Amino acid sequence: MGRPVIGITAAHCTEELKTFPRAFYIDSIRKAGGIPIVLPPVQSRDEGIEVLDLVDGLLLTGGGDISPTYLNEDPLRGIGACIPERDLGELLLSELALRKDLPILGICRGIQVLAISAGGKIYQDIPSQHPEAIQHNQTAPRQYTWHKVDIDQKSLLFRLLGEKKIGVNSLHHQAVREVPPGFQSNAMAMDGIIEGIEKLNAKFCLGVQWHPESMTETEQHSGALFHGFVEACR
Ligand code: MN
Repeated sequence: MGRPVIGITAAHCTEELKTFPRAFYIDSIRKAGGIPIVLPPVQSRDEGIEVLDLVDGLLLTGGGDISPTYLNEDPLRGIGACIPERDLGELLLSELALRKDLPILGICRGIQVLAISAGGKIYQDIPSQHPEAIQHNQTAPRQYTWHKVDIDQKSLLFRLLGEKKIGVNSLHHQAVREVPPGFQSNAMAMDGIIEGIEKLNAKFCLGVQWHPESMTETEQHSGALFHGFVEACR
């Protein structure tokens, strides 16, 4: 049997006319035994359906903020840069992948896309909406862990990693605020910020707020997460 094909969503820069994912994602999928392919920012449901027919799994990658329009909210002062084409494309792909139970791994922005597409809510800006939170924008390079998370022992994430508490890196100012229906939180920081979610009764549908793709060389659990995902795509 051939290696599973993993579709990787890309950053999309409308000003520089560039569409690209960070190389970390490509490398991590390849190392875990999958064939990485980069997906375009699809702009219609029909295009999304056809694109997903080409892949065995969907990796929703990190990036900038999600436009408040897609949250059905007004923008708060702490909102960062938004690219609506990317938001539309990823929200479509996530919703369509959920519908066909295609395995999904969401990373950082990707967990937020996953949550919104499934009916959850996010913080637009943690410091202003959850002032007692710790510093989630780390001042150390991204390959270093920054804070701890507690992992729910009744979760797929725990089965994959086999640890109740791990160190993670942290490069975000948004986070899941309300877990979508049919999902559970599987990891939480000490300040109560949700750091992971997964869909119950799905083949594999999991999001993490940290960046495992940047730590596969420096932290043992990151590789295990990618392996679990790619195996579920077979
Ligand atoms: Mn964090």
